[in-house]
Amino acid sequence: MSDATANSGGRRCRRVLLKLSGEALMGEQPHGISPAILDYLATEIRAINQLGVQAGLVIGAGNIFRGMAGSVAGMDRATADNMGMLATVINALALHDALERHGVAARVLSAIAMPTVCETYSRQKAHHHLDKGRVVIFAAGTGNPYFTTDTAAMLRALEIRADLVCKATRVDGVYDKDPLRHPDAVRFASLSFAEVLGRQLKVMDSAAISLAMDNATPIMVFDMMVPGNMLKAVRGERIGTLIGE
Ligand code: UDP
Repeated sequence: MSDATANSGGRRCRRVLLKLSGEALMGEQPHGISPAILDYLATEIRAINQLGVQAGLVIGAGNIFRGMAGSVAGMDRATADNMGMLATVINALALHDALERHGVAARVLSAIAMPTVCETYSRQKAHHHLDKGRVVIFAAGTGNPYFTTDTAAMLRALEIRADLVCKATRVDGVYDKDPLRHPDAVRFASLSFAEVLGRQLKVMDSAAISLAMDNATPIMVFDMMVPGNMLKAVRGERIGTLIGE
């Protein structure tokens, strides 16, 4: 196990990229969007916004549709991926609505142009909104098939020069094996990028981890369902698993 210390010396983040999986929005439901979870997430994100941390969000679509599932069922992969990217826009709009209802100024920037629904992504617009203190929700992934929203999150993190990527999950960090199936699973306090790739740990996909490694962008993996965890992460507190070096 490594002793990654990137952004862990009690340093508060200036800018964070928060990656939420689509499944994070389901709550106890088997699919779709739970209004209670939206309210919870909006409250947690409001806390980091009020702290003055500029936040970008990338949200997946596993609660609605994943391209790979369509492809396995016989669909053309690129078409299925386009459907997956459109599904992320549905989640982004839901989160945007929840944030605004909770008094947080937010904007949705989509990598696929749909100007009657939301703004089209550009790096300049993202910086502009973040500088104004607005939460920016990056929708439609990278805008390209054959990618995931993990890679989109890392790409946007680099473009907005985020000092930390928070991968919010429903598990309290990265384990050596699945903690839900193995009671003796051990949680890592920290890991290097090379360890994550070498051990094929299921943190983010390998394209996202490679981007993070090449650009020395630390990743914090933590349980987003523990109230206050997002705030702790951006304050530089060591929760969950920190991936760096
Ligand atoms: N997707 C894509 N290109 C991207 C990002 C996402 O084609 O840059 C599609 C892909 O089909 C993927 C779906 O959108 O399965 C939803 O994203 P993801 O699976 O990453 O969602 P999550 O697992 O985070 O809920």
